[in-house]
Amino acid sequence: MYELKQIIQKYELNAKKSLGQNFILDTNLLNKIARMALAGIKHDTVLEVGPGPGGLTQALLEQGDFSMTAVEKDERCVKALSELASDFPNRLTILNEDALLFDEASLGKDICVVANLPYNVSTVLLVKWLKKIDLFSGLTLMFQKEVADRLLADANDEAYGRLSVLTKWLADVSCLMILPPAVFSPAPKVTSALVRIQPKKTRAAGFSFDTLSKLTQAAFNTRRKMLRVSLKALGLSADEIIQLCASANIEPTFRAEQVTVDQFCLMAKWFEDYLCAK
Ligand code: SAM
Repeated sequence: MYELKQIIQKYELNAKKSLGQNFILDTNLLNKIARMALAGIKHDTVLEVGPGPGGLTQALLEQGDFSMTAVEKDERCVKALSELASDFPNRLTILNEDALLFDEASLGKDICVVANLPYNVSTVLLVKWLKKIDLFSGLTLMFQKEVADRLLADANDEAYGRLSVLTKWLADVSCLMILPPAVFSPAPKVTSALVRIQPKKTRAAGFSFDTLSKLTQAAFNTRRKMLRVSLKALGLSADEIIQLCASANIEPTFRAEQVTVDQFCLMAKWFEDYLCAK
């Protein structure tokens, strides 16, 4: 039987800040997170990123008989997790890899991702997964609350930005739980939030991720400036910016934070068509 606290002692898994290690040790909480993470999402194939000492991994495995892959960068944790794998024969594959480099497509499609993310790479991982969103049946991810706020924000919200637009274009986002620092060991400085990212079945099309990314980067880089100024970073003339804004029925005097996700999508389509025709 895998006893989390004993495993941490046995393998001397003192938390490493450089790997964003803030472990959850409370079994009740881990079970609650695991239940929420799998509820309503196809989970024949589960991918956990950063299993650490394996508390959440164990809670997930106890929820059903699906098979799981866990990608962990810390070799010490990988050794500890081999004990958990032998408690659940043929169900847990542990890979000692960097999740930033891991090819999720190697697991097939309809992957259910669950992760208490290392906060230092959480947004880089999210953007990586958004770019291949069609691989996933759903993602349940722990972020620092400040990042979760950005994912959940709508136009005119203070936290609204590039990440809000890219995420909401592709997925429905909801907050499942807010967690205070004290539930982690060691306690981080910030509050955390468990977020569900559910890929949309239909979404605005006719442009690439990179085009929307470039457009939102230019618009939000100088978010207090009007679009007629900020969008010059795309290499467009004043007249072209007027046409780009008109494609979404907005004024060049708007600021990025006033532009809705749908309007950014209309602009991305116009921009991509325009570049192709040029
Ligand atoms: N899942 C465990 C839990 O909830 O207690 C640990 C979560 S801890 C916040 C983040 C985990 O991600 C750590 O185990 C850390 O070693 C791992 N990690 C950090 N960077 C990683 C990377 N680039 N690829 C894979 N794992 C990584």
